[in-house]
Amino acid sequence: MAEPGEKPSIDLNNLKAGGFIKERGKDLFTIRLRVPGGRMAIPRLKKIAQVAEKYGGEFIHLSVRQSMELININFRHFDAVVEELGEADQKVASCGARVRVPVACGGCEYNPNGLVDTQKSALEVDQKLFGTPTGHHKFKVAFAGCPFDCPKSATNDVGFQGALLPRLDKDACISCGLCAKNCAPGAITMGKDKKPLFKDDPCIWCGDCVKVCPTGAWEAKQTGYNVRIGGKWGRNPLVGSLFATLLPQEEAVEFIAQVLAWYQEKAGGQGRIRLGDIIIQEGPQLLLAHLREKFPHSVVTETIPPQVIDTQIGSRKIKP
Ligand code: SF4
Ligand code: SF4
Ligand code: SF4
Repeated sequence: MAEPGEKPSIDLNNLKAGGFIKERGKDLFTIRLRVPGGRMAIPRLKKIAQVAEKYGGEFIHLSVRQSMELININFRHFDAVVEELGEADQKVASCGARVRVPVACGGCEYNPNGLVDTQKSALEVDQKLFGTPTGHHKFKVAFAGCPFDCPKSATNDVGFQGALLPRLDKDACISCGLCAKNCAPGAITMGKDKKPLFKDDPCIWCGDCVKVCPTGAWEAKQTGYNVRIGGKWGRNPLVGSLFATLLPQEEAVEFIAQVLAWYQEKAGGQGRIRLGDIIIQEGPQLLLAHLREKFPHSVVTETIPPQVIDTQIGSRKIKP
């Protein structure tokens, strides 16, 4: 790093890959911090506030992907900022063509809707895959605890959504009808025998029937992640397609690693191209076959390519 008064020699691309992003102002950078799953221990938060007060501007920015960003940091203070943040074990994030910091909702730890431990998954991905160069483009992962999908997992390269497959013990049912009333997608109706009738197709595996049943007649037959692949946001967004259902939570890291390996192989020589565009180009069956070898119990038999969402439609139609 240059001393005060020295002429700086900065490779902006390398800095950005390391989480240091050039601002408009002369010599000023934003430093993006690594906050997997958006969880921040209180001592770490205090340290970040101290460092921001000492070296930064008047505020900290919270990014849409749960990172904290220190604003208005002079590049001459990079070493000191990194060192002082390190005292609270706070690390800097990364940008560029790498596996990014995973985002996650609170999951099942305290959230009444959560079906899986999204925070544990986000930490595992962060420890094992964060910063892996893709060779092509950014690679984003998100974990949602249930089908409400607050983290918008389907617009990530690999998006995980907690799911629960319900099972009914008819003998334990007291025919109160609560499950049918609370099943928003209409997968449960009450039969002539005053017991619930379950239809597989409309079920979105939300687990609400299990939560409302007063006798425990509905229970979890299986829980895991439904996984969508090939989503992205930006100027040309895509919604990822369903590639796996009820993937065991402990297989999430290996699943991502396998998707990444396929992406790197198929995107070879094509430069900056996102995973979803490669799936559209190659067709989803090749990736399905690759994943089915490793995860035969979870990968679906067929799927569709990622779907375009036209977020610019209004601005194209209305002439200035
Ligand atoms: S996705 Fe589900 S579990 Fe996660 S915050 Fe939203 S409602 Fe809660
Ligand atoms: S899991 Fe959700 S959608 Fe499926 S039957 Fe239960 S309440 Fe209905
Ligand atoms: S909520 Fe439970 S007890 Fe009530 S009808 Fe449904 S299965 Fe039966």
